[in-house]
Amino acid sequence: MTNIIAKNIKRRGLLLVLSSPSGAGKSTLSKLLLAKDQNISLSVSMTTRIPRSSEVDGVDYNFVSKDEFEHLVKQDGFLEHAKVFDHYYGTPAAPVKKAMDEGRDVLFDIDWQGTQQLSQKVANDLVRVFILPPSKDELERRLKNRAQDSDDVVARRMAKANGEISHWAEYDYIIVNDDLDKAEGELFSILQAERLKRERQTGLVSFVHEITGEE
Ligand code: 5GP
Repeated sequence: MTNIIAKNIKRRGLLLVLSSPSGAGKSTLSKLLLAKDQNISLSVSMTTRIPRSSEVDGVDYNFVSKDEFEHLVKQDGFLEHAKVFDHYYGTPAAPVKKAMDEGRDVLFDIDWQGTQQLSQKVANDLVRVFILPPSKDELERRLKNRAQDSDDVVARRMAKANGEISHWAEYDYIIVNDDLDKAEGELFSILQAERLKRERQTGLVSFVHEITGEE
């Protein structure tokens, strides 16, 4: 019954941000959440980095040249953008605005710099989740197992992990990704609870009037 009510009441879309050091399981958790819930879609970032073998242009990222990226920066076309690991990454503003106007939720896989920029621009609609690995050794093991990046890249990502982790306290929720099923359940619970927040359910006033029969 609760679900039926939640579906019928008009609500504002929310922006769910996931950040973590590389290798903490953020991409896997994003994919699981997107597969499980049809009402949230991924904000496909633009990047100047080279695609990995498993990545599809337009699905994982929009892969662009530095010139194309800078052109959109000049046009003020990004909601946020940052330099991460020597490459540029940014969130194109137009698709996010469209989703929010339609009352749909958007998932962001972005770093702490982008999260800070979004916090300035869209604070009320933002839900920030930070994913921590269970240990440093496990983080390194996962980065190596990914086998998509060279040893040099893995070493640089490990070296940067502490910098990313140092921003954990700027987030609303922290998930320690020790067990993927558990972490997925926790992430889904956060999304469900945030959707039910009173201020996001913009249709509540008329709904309650219908129940009570009073204006
Ligand atoms: P990767 O190269 O492993 O896909 O991503 C490297 C880092 O850049 C990750 O922490 C990821 O969350 C972050 N990132 C990806 N897209 C964006 C974006 O649009 N904006 C910002 N600020 N960071 C991003």
